[in-house]
Amino acid sequence: MKSRIAFISEHASPLSTIGGVDAGGQNVYVGELARQLVKKGYEVDIFTRRENAQLPQCLQWATGVRIVHVDAGPAQIIPKEQLLPYMAAFRDNMIRFIQEHGITYKLVHANFFMSAQVAVDLKQMLHIPFVVTFHALGHIRRLHQGEQDKFPAERITIEKEAIRQADCIIAECPQDKEDLMQYYQAPANKISIIPGGVNPDEMYPVDKQIARMRLKLAPQEIVLLQLGRMVPRKGVDNVIAALPKLKYTGAKVRLIIVGGEDGARDPEIARLKQLAKDLGVAACVTFAGQRTRDELKYYYAAADLFITTPWYEPFGITPLEAMACGTPVIGANVGGIKYSVLDGKTGLLVPPQNPDALAEKISELLLNRTLLQEMSANAVKRVQTLFTWQRVAHLMNNVYEKVILNHSIAVNSTLPEDLSLIDNAFENLVNTIT
Ligand code: UDP
Repeated sequence: MKSRIAFISEHASPLSTIGGVDAGGQNVYVGELARQLVKKGYEVDIFTRRENAQLPQCLQWATGVRIVHVDAGPAQIIPKEQLLPYMAAFRDNMIRFIQEHGITYKLVHANFFMSAQVAVDLKQMLHIPFVVTFHALGHIRRLHQGEQDKFPAERITIEKEAIRQADCIIAECPQDKEDLMQYYQAPANKISIIPGGVNPDEMYPVDKQIARMRLKLAPQEIVLLQLGRMVPRKGVDNVIAALPKLKYTGAKVRLIIVGGEDGARDPEIARLKQLAKDLGVAACVTFAGQRTRDELKYYYAAADLFITTPWYEPFGITPLEAMACGTPVIGANVGGIKYSVLDGKTGLLVPPQNPDALAEKISELLLNRTLLQEMSANAVKRVQTLFTWQRVAHLMNNVYEKVILNHSIAVNSTLPEDLSLIDNAFENLVNTIT
Protein backbone atom coordinates (compact mmCIF):
# COMPACT_ATOMS: atom_id res chain seq x y z
CA MET A 1 0.00 0.00 0.00
CA LYS A 2 1.20 3.51 -0.75
CA SER A 3 2.23 5.72 2.17
CA ARG A 4 0.54 9.07 2.22
CA ILE A 5 2.72 11.87 3.52
CA ALA A 6 2.18 15.61 3.96
CA PHE A 7 4.54 18.39 2.97
CA ILE A 8 4.00 21.76 4.61
CA SER A 9 5.42 24.73 2.77
CA GLU A 10 3.51 27.72 4.06
CA HIS A 11 4.82 30.40 1.68
CA ALA A 12 6.35 28.43 -1.18
CA SER A 13 4.01 26.60 -3.56
CA PRO A 14 5.15 24.80 -6.70
CA LEU A 15 2.40 26.77 -8.47
CA SER A 16 4.02 30.18 -7.86
CA THR A 17 5.85 32.13 -10.52
CA ILE A 18 9.44 31.57 -9.49
CA GLY A 19 12.12 34.23 -9.40
CA GLY A 20 10.29 36.94 -7.45
CA VAL A 21 11.14 38.12 -3.94
CA ASP A 22 9.77 35.12 -2.03
CA ALA A 23 9.51 32.41 -4.70
CA GLY A 24 12.70 30.52 -5.42
CA GLY A 25 14.54 27.40 -4.36
CA GLN A 26 12.01 26.20 -1.78
CA ASN A 27 9.20 26.16 -4.34
CA VAL A 28 11.35 24.10 -6.70
CA TYR A 29 12.50 21.77 -3.90
CA VAL A 30 9.01 20.99 -2.69
CA GLY A 31 7.60 20.29 -6.17
CA GLU A 32 10.51 18.26 -7.52
CA LEU A 33 11.00 16.22 -4.37
CA ALA A 34 7.29 15.42 -4.14
CA ARG A 35 7.23 14.22 -7.75
CA GLN A 36 10.24 11.97 -7.23
CA LEU A 37 8.86 10.56 -3.97
CA VAL A 38 5.81 9.34 -5.86
CA LYS A 39 8.18 7.03 -7.76
CA LYS A 40 9.27 5.67 -4.38
CA GLY A 41 5.70 4.69 -3.56
CA TYR A 42 4.45 7.76 -1.68
CA GLU A 43 1.42 9.91 -2.25
CA VAL A 44 2.18 13.49 -1.31
CA ASP A 45 -0.14 16.30 -0.25
CA ILE A 46 1.56 19.70 -0.26
CA PHE A 47 -0.11 22.11 2.18
CA THR A 48 0.52 25.73 1.34
CA ARG A 49 -1.13 29.00 2.28
CA ARG A 50 -3.89 30.17 -0.04
CA GLU A 51 -2.55 33.25 -1.88
CA ASN A 52 -5.33 33.45 -4.41
CA ALA A 53 -9.08 33.20 -3.83
CA GLN A 54 -9.66 31.57 -7.24
CA LEU A 55 -7.63 28.45 -6.52
CA PRO A 56 -9.48 25.25 -5.51
CA GLN A 57 -8.95 23.94 -1.99
CA CYS A 58 -7.32 20.79 -3.30
CA LEU A 59 -5.89 20.24 -6.73
CA GLN A 60 -4.19 17.25 -8.34
CA TRP A 61 -0.92 18.87 -9.42
CA ALA A 62 0.93 15.82 -10.72
CA THR A 63 0.47 12.07 -10.55
CA GLY A 64 0.38 11.25 -6.83
CA VAL A 65 0.86 14.88 -5.78
CA ARG A 66 -1.94 17.15 -4.61
CA ILE A 67 -1.66 20.77 -3.55
CA VAL A 68 -3.93 21.76 -0.67
CA HIS A 69 -4.57 25.49 -0.29
CA VAL A 70 -5.02 26.33 3.36
CA ASP A 71 -6.94 29.45 4.36
CA ALA A 72 -4.74 31.53 6.66
CA GLY A 73 -5.01 35.30 6.44
CA PRO A 74 -5.99 37.26 3.32
CA ALA A 75 -6.02 35.24 0.08
CA GLN A 76 -3.27 37.30 -1.52
CA ILE A 77 0.52 37.33 -1.67
CA ILE A 78 1.91 38.52 1.67
CA PRO A 79 5.66 38.94 2.34
CA LYS A 80 6.86 35.89 4.24
CA GLU A 81 8.13 38.09 7.07
CA GLN A 82 4.48 38.94 7.88
CA LEU A 83 3.00 35.44 7.86
CA LEU A 84 3.67 34.21 11.40
CA PRO A 85 0.42 35.64 12.90
CA TYR A 86 -1.59 33.53 10.43
CA MET A 87 0.04 30.22 11.28
CA ALA A 88 -2.41 29.26 14.04
CA ALA A 89 -5.25 29.52 11.49
CA PHE A 90 -3.10 27.54 9.05
CA ARG A 91 -2.68 24.78 11.62
CA ASP A 92 -6.37 24.67 12.55
CA ASN A 93 -7.53 24.63 8.92
CA MET A 94 -4.98 21.99 8.00
CA ILE A 95 -6.20 19.77 10.83
CA ARG A 96 -9.79 20.37 9.78
CA PHE A 97 -8.95 19.25 6.22
CA ILE A 98 -7.21 16.11 7.47
CA GLN A 99 -10.11 15.17 9.75
CA GLU A 100 -12.86 15.99 7.28
CA HIS A 101 -11.21 13.80 4.67
CA GLY A 102 -10.26 11.08 7.14
CA ILE A 103 -6.63 11.02 5.95
CA THR A 104 -3.86 9.28 7.85
CA TYR A 105 -0.41 10.67 7.13
CA LYS A 106 2.57 8.49 7.92
CA LEU A 107 4.88 11.48 8.15
CA VAL A 108 5.01 15.26 7.77
CA HIS A 109 7.90 17.01 6.00
CA ALA A 110 7.97 20.65 7.11
CA ASN A 111 9.70 23.28 5.02
CA PHE A 112 10.82 26.57 6.64
CA PHE A 113 10.35 27.52 10.29
CA MET A 114 6.67 28.44 10.21
CA SER A 115 5.76 25.10 8.68
CA ALA A 116 7.93 23.46 11.32
CA GLN A 117 5.87 25.19 13.99
CA VAL A 118 2.73 23.65 12.50
CA ALA A 119 4.46 20.25 12.35
CA VAL A 120 5.32 20.46 16.06
CA ASP A 121 1.62 20.99 16.85
CA LEU A 122 0.51 18.21 14.50
CA LYS A 123 2.92 15.83 16.17
CA GLN A 124 1.44 16.66 19.53
CA MET A 125 -2.19 16.60 18.45
CA LEU A 126 -2.28 13.89 15.77
CA HIS A 127 0.88 11.93 16.67
CA ILE A 128 2.45 12.25 13.21
CA PRO A 129 6.28 12.17 13.20
CA PHE A 130 8.01 14.94 11.27
CA VAL A 131 11.12 15.76 9.31
CA VAL A 132 12.15 19.36 8.76
CA THR A 133 14.18 21.20 6.14
CA PHE A 134 14.62 24.77 7.31
CA HIS A 135 15.91 26.10 3.94
CA ALA A 136 17.32 29.04 5.90
CA LEU A 137 18.02 29.64 9.57
CA GLY A 138 16.89 32.73 11.47
CA HIS A 139 20.13 33.02 13.40
CA ILE A 140 22.27 33.07 10.25
CA ARG A 141 20.00 35.63 8.66
CA ARG A 142 20.27 37.86 11.74
CA LEU A 143 24.07 37.56 11.71
CA HIS A 144 24.28 38.76 8.12
CA GLN A 145 21.32 41.08 7.80
CA GLY A 146 21.06 42.64 11.26
CA GLU A 147 18.34 45.27 11.37
CA GLN A 148 17.38 44.54 7.76
CA ASP A 149 15.99 41.20 8.88
CA LYS A 150 12.27 41.81 9.31
CA PHE A 151 11.30 38.36 10.62
CA PRO A 152 9.87 38.39 14.16
CA ALA A 153 12.41 37.60 16.89
CA GLU A 154 10.39 34.49 17.89
CA ARG A 155 11.68 32.81 14.75
CA ILE A 156 14.73 31.51 16.55
CA THR A 157 12.71 30.16 19.50
CA ILE A 158 10.37 28.43 17.06
CA GLU A 159 13.33 26.90 15.23
CA LYS A 160 14.83 25.67 18.51
CA GLU A 161 11.58 24.01 19.54
CA ALA A 162 11.20 22.42 16.11
CA ILE A 163 14.74 21.05 16.40
CA ARG A 164 13.86 19.55 19.79
CA GLN A 165 10.66 17.96 18.52
CA ALA A 166 11.71 16.87 15.02
CA ASP A 167 12.33 13.21 14.31
CA CYS A 168 15.00 14.17 11.80
CA ILE A 169 16.46 17.47 10.62
CA ILE A 170 17.59 17.71 7.02
CA ALA A 171 20.71 19.85 6.60
CA GLU A 172 21.30 20.74 2.97
CA CYS A 173 25.07 20.87 3.19
CA PRO A 174 27.82 20.39 5.81
CA GLN A 175 27.78 24.12 6.65
CA ASP A 176 24.05 23.91 7.36
CA LYS A 177 24.71 21.01 9.71
CA GLU A 178 27.49 22.94 11.48
CA ASP A 179 25.21 25.95 11.87
CA LEU A 180 22.41 23.79 13.29
CA MET A 181 24.82 22.33 15.81
CA GLN A 182 26.69 25.53 16.70
CA TYR A 183 23.82 28.00 16.93
CA TYR A 184 20.93 25.69 17.87
CA GLN A 185 22.69 22.87 19.73
CA ALA A 186 21.02 20.38 17.37
CA PRO A 187 22.29 16.89 18.18
CA ALA A 188 24.43 15.47 15.36
CA ASN A 189 22.60 12.16 15.36
CA LYS A 190 19.33 13.90 14.54
CA ILE A 191 20.72 15.56 11.41
CA SER A 192 20.96 14.03 7.95
CA ILE A 193 22.73 15.86 5.17
CA ILE A 194 20.67 15.70 1.99
CA PRO A 195 21.32 18.35 -0.64
CA GLY A 196 18.93 20.02 -3.05
CA GLY A 197 18.90 18.78 -6.61
CA VAL A 198 18.33 19.38 -10.26
CA ASN A 199 16.02 17.80 -12.83
CA PRO A 200 18.16 16.52 -15.74
CA ASP A 201 15.12 16.54 -18.05
CA GLU A 202 14.77 20.26 -17.38
CA MET A 203 18.42 21.36 -17.15
CA TYR A 204 20.85 19.88 -19.66
CA PRO A 205 23.59 21.10 -22.00
CA VAL A 206 22.42 22.89 -25.14
CA ASP A 207 24.78 24.07 -27.87
CA LYS A 208 25.92 27.57 -26.91
CA GLN A 209 25.26 29.15 -30.31
CA ILE A 210 21.80 27.59 -30.57
CA ALA A 211 20.98 28.85 -27.07
CA ARG A 212 22.18 32.35 -28.00
CA MET A 213 20.20 32.38 -31.22
CA ARG A 214 17.09 31.41 -29.30
CA LEU A 215 17.65 34.25 -26.84
CA LYS A 216 18.70 36.70 -29.58
CA LEU A 217 22.10 37.22 -27.99
CA ALA A 218 25.16 38.34 -29.92
CA PRO A 219 27.14 35.19 -30.86
CA GLN A 220 30.56 36.77 -30.32
CA GLU A 221 30.07 38.36 -26.88
CA ILE A 222 31.30 36.87 -23.61
CA VAL A 223 28.21 36.17 -21.53
CA LEU A 224 28.25 36.12 -17.75
CA LEU A 225 25.02 34.98 -16.13
CA GLN A 226 23.49 35.80 -12.76
CA LEU A 227 20.13 34.12 -12.08
CA GLY A 228 17.91 33.98 -9.02
CA ARG A 229 15.76 35.99 -6.66
CA MET A 230 16.83 39.62 -6.53
CA VAL A 231 17.39 40.30 -2.84
CA PRO A 232 20.42 42.13 -1.41
CA ARG A 233 21.91 39.05 0.26
CA LYS A 234 22.34 37.41 -3.15
CA GLY A 235 25.18 39.87 -3.80
CA VAL A 236 24.20 40.73 -7.37
CA ASP A 237 25.70 44.19 -6.75
CA ASN A 238 29.04 42.46 -6.23
CA VAL A 239 28.87 41.00 -9.75
CA ILE A 240 28.01 44.37 -11.30
CA ALA A 241 30.83 46.02 -9.32
CA ALA A 242 33.31 43.47 -10.70
CA LEU A 243 32.60 44.46 -14.33
CA PRO A 244 34.70 47.66 -14.47
CA LYS A 245 37.55 45.79 -12.77
CA LEU A 246 37.86 43.02 -15.39
CA LYS A 247 41.35 42.74 -16.85
CA TYR A 248 40.05 40.63 -19.72
CA THR A 249 40.45 42.53 -22.99
CA GLY A 250 39.01 40.07 -25.53
CA ALA A 251 35.44 40.20 -26.83
CA LYS A 252 32.84 42.47 -25.27
CA VAL A 253 31.52 41.15 -21.96
CA ARG A 254 27.78 41.11 -21.22
CA LEU A 255 26.24 40.38 -17.84
CA ILE A 256 22.73 38.96 -18.05
CA ILE A 257 20.66 39.12 -14.87
CA VAL A 258 17.66 36.77 -14.77
CA GLY A 259 15.09 37.06 -11.97
CA GLY A 260 13.39 39.85 -10.08
CA GLU A 261 10.29 41.84 -10.75
CA ASP A 262 10.25 45.41 -11.95
CA GLY A 263 8.22 47.55 -9.56
CA ALA A 264 7.59 48.35 -5.94
CA ARG A 265 7.71 44.76 -4.66
CA ASP A 266 11.27 44.39 -5.88
CA PRO A 267 13.25 47.57 -5.11
CA GLU A 268 16.47 45.60 -5.58
CA ILE A 269 16.17 45.75 -9.37
CA ALA A 270 16.00 49.56 -9.28
CA ARG A 271 19.03 49.66 -6.97
CA LEU A 272 21.03 47.37 -9.27
CA LYS A 273 20.12 49.37 -12.37
CA GLN A 274 21.29 52.54 -10.63
CA LEU A 275 24.53 50.88 -9.57
CA ALA A 276 25.26 49.75 -13.15
CA LYS A 277 24.67 53.34 -14.31
CA ASP A 278 26.87 54.83 -11.58
CA LEU A 279 29.70 52.46 -12.46
CA GLY A 280 29.40 53.22 -16.16
CA VAL A 281 28.55 49.62 -17.13
CA ALA A 282 24.79 49.96 -17.78
CA ALA A 283 25.28 49.29 -21.50
CA CYS A 284 26.73 45.85 -20.86
CA VAL A 285 24.19 44.69 -18.27
CA THR A 286 20.90 43.14 -19.44
CA PHE A 287 18.05 42.75 -16.95
CA ALA A 288 15.99 39.86 -18.32
CA GLY A 289 13.44 39.66 -15.47
CA GLN A 290 11.75 36.46 -14.30
CA ARG A 291 11.96 33.66 -16.83
CA THR A 292 9.93 30.47 -17.02
CA ARG A 293 11.63 27.21 -16.11
CA ASP A 294 11.65 25.86 -19.66
CA GLU A 295 13.66 28.90 -20.81
CA LEU A 296 16.33 28.67 -18.12
CA LYS A 297 18.50 26.01 -19.77
CA TYR A 298 19.02 28.37 -22.73
CA TYR A 299 20.23 31.12 -20.41
CA TYR A 300 22.57 28.77 -18.58
CA ALA A 301 23.86 27.22 -21.82
CA ALA A 302 24.32 30.60 -23.53
CA ALA A 303 26.64 31.76 -20.74
CA ASP A 304 30.40 31.32 -20.65
CA LEU A 305 30.28 31.55 -16.86
CA PHE A 306 27.59 31.44 -14.22
CA ILE A 307 28.27 33.73 -11.28
CA THR A 308 26.69 33.65 -7.84
CA THR A 309 28.24 35.49 -4.92
CA PRO A 310 25.73 35.69 -2.08
CA TRP A 311 26.75 36.76 1.44
CA TYR A 312 25.59 33.34 2.65
CA GLU A 313 23.69 30.48 1.04
CA PRO A 314 21.85 27.68 2.88
CA PHE A 315 22.15 25.55 -0.26
CA GLY A 316 21.73 27.24 -3.66
CA ILE A 317 20.09 25.33 -6.50
CA THR A 318 21.20 27.72 -9.25
CA PRO A 319 24.87 26.59 -9.28
CA LEU A 320 23.62 23.02 -9.79
CA GLU A 321 21.38 24.11 -12.66
CA ALA A 322 24.28 25.93 -14.32
CA MET A 323 26.56 22.91 -13.93
CA ALA A 324 23.84 20.58 -15.27
CA CYS A 325 23.82 22.74 -18.41
CA GLY A 326 27.60 22.48 -18.68
CA THR A 327 28.38 26.01 -17.50
CA PRO A 328 31.25 26.44 -15.03
CA VAL A 329 30.41 28.43 -11.90
CA ILE A 330 32.26 31.15 -10.04
CA GLY A 331 30.62 31.08 -6.64
CA ALA A 332 31.09 32.59 -3.22
CA ASN A 333 32.96 30.33 -0.86
CA VAL A 334 29.96 30.01 1.46
CA GLY A 335 27.32 27.49 2.57
CA GLY A 336 26.05 25.08 -0.05
CA ILE A 337 28.09 26.64 -2.86
CA LYS A 338 31.43 25.58 -1.38
CA TYR A 339 29.99 22.07 -1.23
CA SER A 340 28.41 21.81 -4.69
CA VAL A 341 31.08 23.70 -6.69
CA LEU A 342 34.44 21.94 -6.71
CA ASP A 343 37.09 24.66 -6.67
CA GLY A 344 39.34 24.33 -9.72
CA LYS A 345 37.30 21.43 -11.17
CA THR A 346 33.74 22.62 -11.87
CA GLY A 347 34.40 26.29 -11.30
CA LEU A 348 36.12 28.59 -8.84
CA LEU A 349 35.31 29.83 -5.34
CA VAL A 350 35.80 33.45 -4.30
CA PRO A 351 35.23 35.38 -1.09
CA PRO A 352 31.79 37.08 -1.01
CA GLN A 353 31.42 40.88 -1.22
CA ASN A 354 34.77 41.26 -2.92
CA PRO A 355 34.47 42.57 -6.50
CA ASP A 356 38.28 42.68 -6.95
CA ALA A 357 38.67 38.97 -6.23
CA LEU A 358 35.70 38.17 -8.45
CA ALA A 359 37.02 40.26 -11.34
CA GLU A 360 40.38 38.53 -11.08
CA LYS A 361 38.85 35.03 -11.23
CA ILE A 362 36.53 35.91 -14.12
CA SER A 363 39.48 37.26 -16.11
CA GLU A 364 41.58 34.22 -15.23
CA LEU A 365 38.97 31.76 -16.48
CA LEU A 366 38.06 33.67 -19.62
CA LEU A 367 41.72 33.53 -20.63
CA ASN A 368 41.85 29.75 -20.17
CA ARG A 369 39.44 28.18 -22.63
CA THR A 370 40.88 24.67 -22.15
CA LEU A 371 40.22 24.80 -18.43
CA LEU A 372 36.70 26.13 -19.05
CA GLN A 373 35.97 23.15 -21.29
CA GLU A 374 37.30 20.70 -18.72
CA MET A 375 35.23 22.36 -16.02
CA SER A 376 32.14 22.17 -18.19
CA ALA A 377 32.48 18.38 -18.60
CA ASN A 378 33.28 17.87 -14.90
CA ALA A 379 30.31 19.99 -13.90
CA VAL A 380 27.77 17.92 -15.86
CA LYS A 381 29.23 14.70 -14.48
CA ARG A 382 29.23 15.89 -10.89
CA VAL A 383 25.64 17.06 -10.97
CA GLN A 384 24.32 14.00 -12.76
CA THR A 385 26.07 11.72 -10.26
CA LEU A 386 25.32 13.49 -6.99
CA PHE A 387 22.66 16.11 -7.31
CA THR A 388 19.60 14.83 -9.17
CA TRP A 389 16.19 15.02 -7.50
CA GLN A 390 15.96 11.30 -8.09
CA ARG A 391 18.98 10.83 -5.84
CA VAL A 392 17.66 13.33 -3.31
CA ALA A 393 14.39 11.35 -3.13
CA HIS A 394 16.33 8.13 -2.68
CA LEU A 395 18.18 9.60 0.32
CA MET A 396 15.02 11.18 1.68
CA ASN A 397 13.17 7.89 1.41
CA ASN A 398 15.88 6.26 3.56
CA VAL A 399 15.27 8.90 6.20
CA TYR A 400 11.47 8.64 5.99
CA GLU A 401 11.56 4.86 6.31
CA LYS A 402 13.68 5.13 9.44
CA VAL A 403 11.53 7.85 10.95
CA ILE A 404 8.30 5.96 10.25
CA LEU A 405 9.79 2.77 11.66
CA ASN A 406 11.24 4.50 14.73
CA HIS A 407 7.96 6.23 15.36
CA SER A 408 6.04 2.99 15.40
CA ILE A 409 8.71 1.46 17.67
CA ALA A 410 8.65 4.54 19.94
CA VAL A 411 4.89 4.27 20.26
CA ASN A 412 5.61 0.85 21.78
CA SER A 413 8.21 2.45 24.14
CA THR A 414 11.38 1.26 22.40
CA LEU A 415 14.46 3.51 21.98
CA PRO A 416 14.89 5.13 18.53
CA GLU A 417 17.80 4.15 16.30
CA ASP A 418 20.73 6.41 15.43
CA LEU A 419 20.00 8.41 12.24
CA SER A 420 23.64 9.42 11.74
CA LEU A 421 24.28 6.20 9.79
CA ILE A 422 22.45 7.57 6.75
CA ASP A 423 24.22 10.88 7.08
CA ASN A 424 27.64 9.25 7.21
CA ALA A 425 26.93 7.06 4.21
CA PHE A 426 26.08 10.12 2.13
CA GLU A 427 29.06 12.15 3.31
CA ASN A 428 31.38 9.29 2.41
CA LEU A 429 29.89 9.16 -1.04
CA VAL A 430 30.36 12.89 -1.60
CA ASN A 431 33.97 12.66 -0.51
CA THR A 432 34.75 9.82 -2.90
CA ILE A 433 33.30 11.44 -6.03
CA THR A 434 35.38 14.50 -6.86
N1 UDP B 1 14.33 30.82 -10.79
C1 UDP B 1 13.37 30.72 -11.80
N2 UDP B 1 13.12 31.80 -12.57
C2 UDP B 1 13.74 32.98 -12.40
C3 UDP B 1 14.72 33.10 -11.37
C4 UDP B 1 14.98 32.00 -10.58
O1 UDP B 1 12.78 29.65 -12.02
O2 UDP B 1 13.46 33.93 -13.13
C5 UDP B 1 14.64 29.63 -9.97
C6 UDP B 1 16.05 29.08 -10.18
O3 UDP B 1 16.11 28.41 -11.43
C7 UDP B 1 16.22 28.17 -8.97
C8 UDP B 1 15.45 28.94 -7.90
O4 UDP B 1 14.63 29.90 -8.58
O5 UDP B 1 15.65 26.91 -9.22
C9 UDP B 1 16.38 29.65 -6.93
O6 UDP B 1 16.87 28.70 -6.03
P1 UDP B 1 18.18 28.90 -5.14
O7 UDP B 1 18.25 27.71 -4.26
O8 UDP B 1 19.36 29.15 -5.99
O9 UDP B 1 17.91 30.21 -4.30
P2 UDP B 1 16.77 30.58 -3.22
O10 UDP B 1 15.62 31.10 -3.99
O11 UDP B 1 16.43 29.30 -2.50
O12 UDP B 1 17.38 31.60 -2.34
